[in-house]
Amino acid sequence: LKKIMADVSKKDDCIFCKIVNGGLKSDIVRTGKNFIAVKDISPFAEGHTLILPKQHYSTMLDIPNGLGGEMLQFVKEVVSDLTKKNLGTGFNIISNNFKSAGQVVMHAHIHVIPRKDGDGIRYFSKD
Ligand code: AMP
Ligand code: ZN
Repeated sequence: LKKIMADVSKKDDCIFCKIVNGGLKSDIVRTGKNFIAVKDISPFAEGHTLILPKQHYSTMLDIPNGLGGEMLQFVKEVVSDLTKKNLGTGFNIISNNFKSAGQVVMHAHIHVIPRKDGDGIRYFSKD
């Protein structure tokens, strides 16, 4: 019961779980079996997208290996969507894991950031 309660409260205050279950409004751009893609609310570039597992996993380390292939395929589909919309000619995929690496939302996710020549985006800058 303790574990069940912990899972429930974790989901209750997780904003990405709320996005997945429709409790928080978001701009979902693609839905798969185990993943969804949403527009980042504070984008580095037009088209900046987050890929979230539908299940609550706290970091990349918690995502089962069995979802790895689907996750990679989903990344490719999101990139293809962005490319078709002419939002980038290249892309960065980034995942912040744990507080020391800048993870703010403790529901594992991948950033897909479309890039263009000379766009000047420096994601890793600390300021
Ligand atoms: P990080 O955990 O460092 O990858 O940062 C969380 C990311 O989630 C940031 O890029 C935020 O802009 C983004 N974010 C936070 N809340 C929302 C939301 N409600 N909808 C979409 N993106 C969000
Ligand atoms: Zn969650």
